[in-house]
Amino acid sequence: MTYRSKAVKLCAAAALLLVAGTQTHAASSDAEACRSLVPTAMGGPMLRDAGKIMLRWLSTSNYELVYHGQVFLLDAYFDRGPRNRPTGVVPSEVKQADAIFIGHGHFDHMSDAAPIAQKTKAKVIGAPVTIETAYKLGVPEGQGIAVAGGETLKFKGVAVDAALARHSTLSRDVLDTLGRLYDLDAGPATPEQAEAEKAILAKGTSSPDVITKGTIAYAFTFETGFKLIWLDSAGPVTDGVRALAQKLGPVDIAIVAYQGHPVAQVQVPVTLELVKLFRPRIFMPAHHDQIFGTFVDLGVEPLFEAIADALPGTQTLAPLHQRPNCFDISKKRR
Ligand SMILES: [Zn+2]
Repeated sequence: MTYRSKAVKLCAAAALLLVAGTQTHAASSDAEACRSLVPTAMGGPMLRDAGKIMLRWLSTSNYELVYHGQVFLLDAYFDRGPRNRPTGVVPSEVKQADAIFIGHGHFDHMSDAAPIAQKTKAKVIGAPVTIETAYKLGVPEGQGIAVAGGETLKFKGVAVDAALARHSTLSRDVLDTLGRLYDLDAGPATPEQAEAEKAILAKGTSSPDVITKGTIAYAFTFETGFKLIWLDSAGPVTDGVRALAQKLGPVDIAIVAYQGHPVAQVQVPVTLELVKLFRPRIFMPAHHDQIFGTFVDLGVEPLFEAIADALPGTQTLAPLHQRPNCFDISKKRR
C-alpha cells in the first residue's frame, strides 16, 4: 500500500465516522424535537427528518408545524393575556418562523403575527381582509400573501392549497352570557387585566368580510403524499372546501375547529360535517379550549363519539398544550 492510498483509506474511514456522527446527532436532535416542550419557533430542538412532521398545539387554533427544518405557524395568537394559560411562545423572542398561515383575521387567530413577521421575516398568508389588517398591525411591507381560495403555494417538500371556508356562527347573546358566567364564577377582571385583554382584542379585525370572504382552509400535501388539513373555524360547508376535499381525497390528519358553543349538540354536527368531507385517518380538534372571559374549555368527547360513529376508521387525538406530536409521513410507512 502506498502512502497515498493509505491516506485516502484513512480519509474515507474518517469521513464514514463523520457521517455516522452526523446521523447520530441528527437522529438525537429529531428524538429531542419529539419530546421537548420548547416550541421549535422559540429555539427548541429542530426536526430535520423529511420523513416526519411535528405538530404542537399552542392553544386556541394555534399549531406549530415543523417539517424538514422549516417552522410553519398555523395562526398566531400567543400572548393571550394575564388570565389565560401561557402558550410558551413569546412573540418578541421567536427565533424561527418560515411562514405564518392565518385562518381568519379575528384577534384570537392573528394578534401576534406582526412582531413574529418583523423578527423572522416570515411570509404571512391569509385572506385579503386578514393581510390588510396584518399590514395595519405592523407586518412589514411585502411579507403578506393574500389568498382568496384556489391558490397553491410551494415550500420545500410541501405544497399548500388554500380554500375559501366559512366562519362559525355564534350569537352575541351567547358570547355576552359566557362573559357574565366568567364574572359570576371567577370574579371580574382587575383594571390591569381588563386593559391587557383590551389591547390584545384590538389586534385583529371584526369586519363582516371575515365571516364569508375571510376564512381560509389550508391543506398541506407533503412530497411523500401525506396530507394534512387545518381549519381554524368551523362553519357551514362551502363550495371551496368541498372542491378541496374532492381534490385531496382522504387525508391523513384533519385539524378542524370545535369552538365556542357551550352546548355540544349545536357545534358537533357542524364540525362533524367538515370532518366527514376529509375522511381523515387521524382527527385533532382546535379552538375547543378556554379564552378567559369568552370561551370555556369544551369536552371533546361528544365530538369524538360522533366521529367514531360516522367514521369508524378515524382515530381521534386530543392534544395537550405545548406537547409535541410527531408523525411518520415517510413513503415506506405509508
Ligand atoms: Zn373567529
